[in-house]
Amino acid sequence: MRTGVLALQGDVPEHLAALGRGLGGLAPRPVRTPSDLEEIDALFLPGGESTSIARLLRDAGLWETLERRLRAGLPVLATCAGLILLAGHLEEGPSGPNPPTFGVLDVTVRRNDYGGQRESFEAPVRVQGLEGGDYPGVFIRAPRILKVGAKAEPFAWRDEEVVGVRQGPVWGLTFHPELSGDPRIHRRFLDAVSSPA
Ligand code: GLN
Repeated sequence: MRTGVLALQGDVPEHLAALGRGLGGLAPRPVRTPSDLEEIDALFLPGGESTSIARLLRDAGLWETLERRLRAGLPVLATCAGLILLAGHLEEGPSGPNPPTFGVLDVTVRRNDYGGQRESFEAPVRVQGLEGGDYPGVFIRAPRILKVGAKAEPFAWRDEEVVGVRQGPVWGLTFHPELSGDPRIHRRFLDAVSSPA
């Protein structure tokens, strides 16, 4: 399985490192051009700044290619800013104009809803079916999932709050599995999308 990390802005090295660790030597590629994107079977959308990533996607000529591949069922693990870019609806929030989104995850999200950098935090996350107990959730200027629509399915919670959803092969998280040093979520995503039920 050929995997790639969208490498325009954000915590790209951390994703590449997280994938290199504990995943049987899987070597993800950085994705910067439309042809990079054509050559992969699964994509990781990193955290970062969603407005910048959206602008850079347009500048790199990647927006249309990514949109087409998403509609054709490309598996994606999107974290934080990545989740924002996939959301069906963004509420107005404290962080100024929202970016355009691909709308492939049936959720309503508000950016920076927990506050700014100083309100970033770590908290245990319960992930459905994940062995080995709670997952260490790292939340950085995180978006909040305000509403989960009928097409999306929640699969991760912090207390009662939904912090992870999936819709077919598209997974979105408000926290950063690439920053916690725990490979279980990346591994589970790859297991799920390489052998779909
Ligand atoms: N607050 C950022 C945004 O709105 C996301 C933060 C993150 O990815 N850690 O894009």
